[in-house]
Order: sequence, then C-alpha cells, then structure tokens
Amino acid sequence: MSDTDRQIAEWVEETPFLDTHEHLIEESQRVAGAIDQRFLPCNDWAYLFRSYAAEDLVVSGLAAADLRRFLGPDLRSEEKFRLIAPFWDRIRHTGYAQALRYTFRGLYGEDDLTAQSVARIAEKYHDTVQAGFYQRVLKLANIQGCHVNSLQRIFMETEQPALLDQDISILQLCRCSSADFARVEAETGRRPTTLEEWIDVIDFYFATYASRAVAVKSQIAYSRALDFVPVTKTYASRLFPHHSDRSGRLHALGPEDLKALQDFLFRYCISKAGEFGLPVKLHTGVLAGHGVMQLSHTRNNAAHVCRLLQDFPGTRFVLMHIGYPYEHEFIALAKHYPNAAIDMCWAWIINPVASASFLREFLMAAPSNKIFTFGGDYVAVEPIYGHAFIARRGIAQSISRLVGEGWIAFEETRDLIERVMHRNAGSFFKKIAAQSSPGSDGQVADSCLSTGAPSCSLDRK
Ligand SMILES: [Zn+2]
Repeated sequence: MSDTDRQIAEWVEETPFLDTHEHLIEESQRVAGAIDQRFLPCNDWAYLFRSYAAEDLVVSGLAAADLRRFLGPDLRSEEKFRLIAPFWDRIRHTGYAQALRYTFRGLYGEDDLTAQSVARIAEKYHDTVQAGFYQRVLKLANIQGCHVNSLQRIFMETEQPALLDQDISILQLCRCSSADFARVEAETGRRPTTLEEWIDVIDFYFATYASRAVAVKSQIAYSRALDFVPVTKTYASRLFPHHSDRSGRLHALGPEDLKALQDFLFRYCISKAGEFGLPVKLHTGVLAGHGVMQLSHTRNNAAHVCRLLQDFPGTRFVLMHIGYPYEHEFIALAKHYPNAAIDMCWAWIINPVASASFLREFLMAAPSNKIFTFGGDYVAVEPIYGHAFIARRGIAQSISRLVGEGWIAFEETRDLIERVMHRNAGSFFKKIAAQSSPGSDGQVADSCLSTGAPSCSLDRK
C-alpha cells in the first residue's frame, strides 16, 4: 500500500456515510424482544443471518426445514450452530457472510463464528440489544443517519425521527394484492371499491406523510417487469370494481388487466411524488430470497425504466442496487438521463468486487453528484456495521486505483469521497418540511439532477 492509498483509506474511514436504504424495524420492538413471525422470528444471533446470509446458506445446500429451525425461537445456540456449520464454511467468503464476520469482529470482538465462539456471540448479541443501541451501532459504523423503507407500514411514524428518515412505500398503493387491501384497511379503516376511492387513499397518504418523508419507494420489481405504460383513468376504472366489490371480496384479474391497473396506479403515484417533490426509489436488479427470480424481468429493468425517465422528466428517480448483474446499463442511464441517479445500497454485499469495479467505471462515465454509495438494506441494525466496513474498503480501493492509473488527481479525492459518501445524498434528499410548500420552485435547484429539464424544479423525489 502506497502513502497515497493509505491517505485515501484514512479519509474514507473518517468520512461519515449517509445511509440511503434500510428496512429497520423500530428499536423498541427489538429491545422488547417479543417473537413476531415476520419481523422477529427469533431473538438470538441467528436473527442477524435472516437478511441475507441465510439465503446463501440455503443456496449452498441447507435444507429449508433446517433453515426454519435455525431462524425459529426453539433451538439453543449450540444446536443452531451445529445445524449450519458445514454451510457456514461454504459461504464464508460471500459478501453476505463477510458482512456478518466484520460485524462479529467490530461489535462483539469475535473474529469468526465457530463452535468455540458461538456461546460468546450469543451472549454479546443480548448485551448489545439495549435501549439506544441503534444510535450506538450507527455511530460505531460512522453513519450519520439512515433512510428507512418500513416493511411494516406504508409510512412508519418512527420513534427516532432524527436518526431514521422514512420513505413512503408505494408498493401497497399500486400492486392490488389482497394483502395490500388488508394493509390499507388496517391503517386507514377504508376498503375502497372504486378506483376513485382508491385514488383518495393514495392522496391521503401523500397529504398526510409527504412532508415528513424523504422519498417514495417501490419494490414492485419483485413481482413484475418495470414496463409501466400509460393507461386511461376510464379504462382503469372499469377494471377496479371487478377487483374489489362491496362485499369486500377480491376478484382476481387476469394478468393483462392486473398489469393495466398497476400501470395506472403506479404512474399515478409517480405523478403524486412529482407533485410533492419526492424522489422515487425503485428496486432494480437481482432479487433477495431464493428460488423465485424471473431473470427475464430483471434483465430488462434498465430498458424498461427509460419510459418512466422520459415520461416524468421532472421527477428524480433513484435506481437501487446498481441493477446488478446488469450494472453497466445503469451507468448508461445515469450518464444519459438528467433525472436518473444510482444508489449502491445492498450492492456491496451482493458482490463486493463487482461493486468496486462499478464505482470506478461510474466515476469515469457519469457526473459524480448522481451516485449514493451506501445503504445496508437490513431489517436488523447490527450487520450495517459489517456492510459499511466492506463498502469503505471498496470505495477506498476504487478511488485509489483511479489515482494510481492516472485517471483522477490525488488532490481531488478528498472532495470526491465526501461527495459520494454523504454530500450527494444530503443535498438530494431534503424533506419537504424543511422547504417551502409542495411543488414550489427554487428550493431544490442545487440538488436537482435535471440540469436540462425546465420542469425539474417543480418536482423532486
Ligand atoms: Zn431494500
């Protein structure tokens, strides 16, 4: 390592991240420790595997039934370790597992999860989960704050608004699944039976929460292609009553009709986001989980979002996870479209080496204000530490290599590091509450990506 490399690594180390994507549940739920099948299926160290190392365990050969026991509340720590030991050995070099190993080292002082260390790790897990531990873990990881896309509510009114900014999840407002109807009913008491009533619900969420939100977020790419085409309201209205009638029964739409209804509702949500100046964060690329991905959808994410980028030129889109494994296409989008920014959230642990290479190539092709370099993408706070460790290593390596190869000057690197690690995100995501009224001009000029589009100042994501 040269002196230049060492200096760059030091600057990356001391520069805080603004973390633009997590799924953290509320700290009080973790501290209370009550088992919740969906969000806290066990309250021991195995919980830290849930996102995402458990997926690598299964893909490497762990039986699904054993995974359930591993993530369940019943087994003792030593039994849990015995169950996964051969598979832990197989995955220890993946980004998911490395993030956990750096977490064990940084938070618990344990170099690895082994038959010898598991009892200590089990104890340290419980020692860590105390009131105030979100703040403590994030401080250790040198992270100044997080954006949270709650998986529990469409908008989470968090106990820690100074630490955890929130996205509005528009997935449930445009997917039209029975679970989405149930969620909306649980949160609002409404059970829409017409498109107009559903639009009222969407308007309610934006009117109530947009001023406190940093962005809207959708992971609808998990269930369909991102090819949203214009659909008239009249046509969508005809589909909606067939979907939900007065008795509350849902009528399944055929795939084409469901797509058309989703197309209309998704584009309506995008226009609302534009009206309120909220950026639109979209999941792109590889899917979490195992055994479900339709690569024919994923492969076309970049091509499909062109239509959205063109149809909503004043709305700022954040394309998440670098669209891996099609990340080069996302560099092309950020280079070509004024309203496209790329978020490297999750990417560093999907593939650390590809991410380092992506960042290097991105910086040579696209303006440096259009990238956000960190989001842990976790439900548990602890592994954010290990993920941030990996991201810092990758950022330092990428920038060092660009300097070493003569593509950027050493003198420029400190500013560049601060920009990609927190300044870009800080100026891009500004809560409306901190600005003037929704849709007002001027407030976003400095953070607006769309240097060429005159409508840009009217819409911010
Ligand atoms: Zn996510």
